[in-house]
Amino acid sequence: MTELRALKIYNTLSGKKEEFHPITPGYIGMYVCGPTVYSDVHLGNCRTFCSFDTIYRHLLHSGYKVRYVRNITDVGHLTDEGEDRMAKGAKVAQLEPMEVAQRYTVGFHDMMRIFNTLPPSIEPRATGHILEQIEMVQQILDRGLAYLSNGSVYFDVPKFATENEGVYGSVSGRILEDLYTETRELKSQEEKRHPADFAIWMKARPQDLMIWNSPWSIGFPGWHLECSAMSTKYLGKTFDIHGGGNDLKFPHHENEVAQNHGACGCKPANYWVHTNMLLLNGKKMSKSDGNTISPTELFTGNSEHTSKAYSPMAVRFFMLQAHYRSTLDITDDGLMAAEKGFLKIMETNRILQSLPVDPRDFDGSETDTDRSILALIQDTFAGMDDDFNTAISIACLNELGSYVHKLVNQQLDASQISPWVLERMKTVFSTFIFDIFGLKDESDSVQDSGTIEGLMSLILDIRGQARDQKDWTTSDKIRDTLSAVGITLKDGKDGVSWAKL
Ligand code: AMP
Ligand code: ZN
Repeated sequence: MTELRALKIYNTLSGKKEEFHPITPGYIGMYVCGPTVYSDVHLGNCRTFCSFDTIYRHLLHSGYKVRYVRNITDVGHLTDEGEDRMAKGAKVAQLEPMEVAQRYTVGFHDMMRIFNTLPPSIEPRATGHILEQIEMVQQILDRGLAYLSNGSVYFDVPKFATENEGVYGSVSGRILEDLYTETRELKSQEEKRHPADFAIWMKARPQDLMIWNSPWSIGFPGWHLECSAMSTKYLGKTFDIHGGGNDLKFPHHENEVAQNHGACGCKPANYWVHTNMLLLNGKKMSKSDGNTISPTELFTGNSEHTSKAYSPMAVRFFMLQAHYRSTLDITDDGLMAAEKGFLKIMETNRILQSLPVDPRDFDGSETDTDRSILALIQDTFAGMDDDFNTAISIACLNELGSYVHKLVNQQLDASQISPWVLERMKTVFSTFIFDIFGLKDESDSVQDSGTIEGLMSLILDIRGQARDQKDWTTSDKIRDTLSAVGITLKDGKDGVSWAKL
């Protein structure tokens, strides 16, 4: 068996970095809150999912067998006005709520593929786990920690807090006296005994579209419940890591902990990992505030916030340059610097991999340069082992890269690096870049780009002629066919431009 790497993880519960000890040595259960599929993911969401992808990749690379569960929220996540987000999306677009969920789930998966993230081991949907959620409501009721009010079931926060000292507030640090739920649930204020109580089952109103039968009423589960029910089902009552963006600490994660304790009598996760926010104009990127850039806008250069298009891997690299617990402000300058950094590290890797390894046997001696390189390799791993510090590991890789450039510029004699050290450098570089950071070499597409440029110029000429002749059928057909293969056209004052996703 591969030796497991020792890791440190910052645990929100203790507010400290802790040595990581999984419940079963060698195995990790990790649950991450997935997207609410009522609209396209924005770049902030992508940052969180890319951060957990890098964490997942590092855990795998550290020798652990990981069951990574990331859900799809397709019911129960209400707007501030108390309307189900899916149903609201459906009404606006005159679709079935499940059509909305399907459309944006597909879009989410496409985007995750573009960012080269690994699929989770299980991706459960809230609507596929209504029975489990009903069962959990019943368990909480049986333990006397919830009450029925006018067909809805509410979690009794003050009773839970009194019986389980120190648990409510353990994720968000909020104290009960300060608590008022952030979501104004359906007609719920007058049905609750305390403002901090939250619905775990909601009785449907006539306009609600996604509803199920239950022992209490026809209705639907509260948003927080799905994650409690699905994490328990797939990872057990207590598992290793629970993750999400730090905007979910309250009320979502706080209430999840309460529900799991309420139903099972124990804490759900030993380590809570929270990613920090991607900012735009100094403010959290958010769908509801309209303060967003979509990844597509960034990849096509179709955004008022950027001067040009950035490739998905340059954007992933931009995110990797910051530690996941730091905020990250998206700016054109920052993206441009990241693009440079990404191209440089890929180029360094190409040069490194092409260097011949002298077949002479390793004679056991180490040069000073060998020792510096080996120390840097250790630091590269240490960065990721210390709470997944991508920023430090990238800095170390760049330092390692400087040896490669010195070699090719003949500032360093090849005899200074022993063959086995060179071989090790090659492995470490490609392991970090491809396996752990999840980057892809985009140079193949760059080589193809000459051909594509030529073909596109021809196609745009034909489309231009069709438009001159007012042949809208041909012109639209060209645009739609290109769009189906991921090429977007933009009609501007300087002519037509195009971008490929
Ligand atoms: P949602 O689809 O709104 O439930 O969000 C999906 C995930 O994206 C959650 O883990 C959020 O915490 C995370 N998220 C939302 N906005 C941002 C942001 N601006 N930066 C980073 N993560 C975010
Ligand atoms: Zn969740």
